[in-house]
Amino acid sequence: MTMQPDKSRTDRASLVARLGDVIPLDLTVTATAMVSPALWRIDLVGEDLVGLAVLPGQDLMVAVADGTGPRRRYSICNHDPALGTASLLIVDHDNGAGAQWTRSLQVGDVIDAVGPRGKQVVQASATTHLFIGEASSFGATQSMAESITEGTVLVVLAVADLEDALPLHLVAPATSIHVVEAAPGDAAPIVNELSELDLATEGLAVYVNAEFSVVRAVKSALMDRGIPEAAIATKTYWRQGRANAVHGEPPKD
Ligand SMILES: Cc1cc2nc3c(=O)[nH]c(=O)nc-3n(C[C@H](O)[C@H](O)[C@H](O)COP(=O)(O)OP(=O)(O)OC[C@H]3O[C@@H](n4cnc5c(N)ncnc54)[C@H](O)[C@@H]3O)c2cc1C
Repeated sequence: MTMQPDKSRTDRASLVARLGDVIPLDLTVTATAMVSPALWRIDLVGEDLVGLAVLPGQDLMVAVADGTGPRRRYSICNHDPALGTASLLIVDHDNGAGAQWTRSLQVGDVIDAVGPRGKQVVQASATTHLFIGEASSFGATQSMAESITEGTVLVVLAVADLEDALPLHLVAPATSIHVVEAAPGDAAPIVNELSELDLATEGLAVYVNAEFSVVRAVKSALMDRGIPEAAIATKTYWRQGRANAVHGEPPKD
């Protein structure tokens, strides 16, 4: 009989043992600010970030209560491995352990994190990269899209307030950014915008990072227009009306 890993244990030793390819990190908050109507930016420094190998789009799993309570995953932004600095961009929504923890952070606080995590990476063989995201995945979209130096980068970003679409400094030769207004968890404006995009399937990689039902609706719309499932990488970040589990993942049932 195979033993299933116990995902309810969220202390660092258990996580490092279970996940295998992550390290524990102690990170000190150096600044905290609302940078748009929905997004907090939390700046961090720590020896553990010095020289750390982080792929664009990877995240940290942070303790949002004590070290044995719930954890939430937040994408690593602007990592500087020489200085040992990085930032998190976190949605300020009504409730939730992560949102409350974010609001409570003060300069000098030390964050208990585990990372880097995340298997969704930029597909090096693709010639066109389409990112579909929202405020909660802005950090991942920014890190991944800005790291691409060849081919075409398309971004479809759904935000409740246009000011939540922070600047993207895309360096690929061909780029376009489509910002749509959508309530959190509403897929319709994204699906509409996608129907206007001229997409060739040859060399295409799609990255969808969003709320549960948005991920499903967007993936289904993409497949309906002939984009192969293998070209669509998805990650569900949260689920409307349901809290994420203690290990940070939204419920799948
Ligand atoms: C790989 C990965 C990377 C992630 N990176 C980021 C990131 O960089 N920034 C970020 O903000 N989040 C990110 N998330 C989502 C994040 O980890 C939390 O799940 C999310 O912020 C909610 O946590 P919470 O404890 O605040 O709310 P929960 O306790 O999980 O939920 C409480 C309630 O709030 C609602 N809710 C949760 N999130 C939102 C939201 N964004 N808008 C409106 N209502 C919401 C839920 O539907 C629920 O009703 C990531 C998730 C994953 C899996």
